Amino acid sequence: MDLEEPRAWIGAARTVVVFSGAGVSAESGVPTFRGEQGLWRSYRAEDLATPAAFRRDPRLVWEWYAWRRGLVAACAPNAAHQAIAEAQLMRSGVHVVTQNVDGLHERALRARGGVPGLERSILALHGSIAHSRCSTCSYRELDEHPVDASALDRLPRCPRCGALLRPDVVWFGERLDARTLDHSFDLAAGADVCLVVGTSGLVEPAASVPRITAGAGGRVLVLGPEETALDGLADRVLRGRATELVPALFG
Ligand code: NAD
Ligand code: ZN
Repeated sequence: MDLEEPRAWIGAARTVVVFSGAGVSAESGVPTFRGEQGLWRSYRAEDLATPAAFRRDPRLVWEWYAWRRGLVAACAPNAAHQAIAEAQLMRSGVHVVTQNVDGLHERALRARGGVPGLERSILALHGSIAHSRCSTCSYRELDEHPVDASALDRLPRCPRCGALLRPDVVWFGERLDARTLDHSFDLAAGADVCLVVGTSGLVEPAASVPRITAGAGGRVLVLGPEETALDGLADRVLRGRATELVPALFG
């Protein structure tokens, strides 16, 4: 595959937005939602990652998240996360807008020593699986303890108001954080290149990020092994795996 031109676009760009989805973490062992390995028992993510599911059976939802937290904690950033983090450290103007809740972009940056403040250039549109927040008040915490989801009365509760805590992620049917979304759209509008990695492009409003770049005259690169809803938008579609192509684009 000829990567020379896309490499040159990235190299010459003042601002690059990497727009990532579950596929960038697939080779770290984090299951995607839509693949077959994305199923948990017989449940689909759409049946568990909703406010209605949490109202109906918070214990079941927490059991699933406890399992996912364990999975993510046991995974490590892969060569794609690492190449992106490296680019963020080596040059200015590389931003990440991710749909992932796994924190692997942040971990890749921290593993390289990071730079104070640079983690702010990673925008997690759908929240963070490692954080919990109150289902009622504004309390939020980094929750590093394993959650005991064996019974309703063992679920974690808010130290401020006593209501149930919930994972700090955006569920189907919920609004994204308005400031994070606005900031992402602003970055997308000013980007010379939007590099789309590992997303089916089916979840809105996140999938608008590359559309905004294209609409503002920036270039869009779509990278992944299968056809996506964003291919039609792309100046170049790069078929392949994230760990193979992302380091080649930035290296
Ligand atoms: P998706 O599951 O809909 O699509 C994943 C995409 O990644 C597919 O296009 C697939 O072909 C591609 N892919 C698979 N392996 C790849 C590889 N090795 N390299 C590059 N691409 C690869 O994921 P989505 O578009 O991110 O939407 C799912 C939603 O679920 C998101 O909104 C996200 O919040 C959530 N989710 C997050 C995680 C996570 O945090 N890691 C995991 C699952 C789901
Ligand atoms: Zn509370």
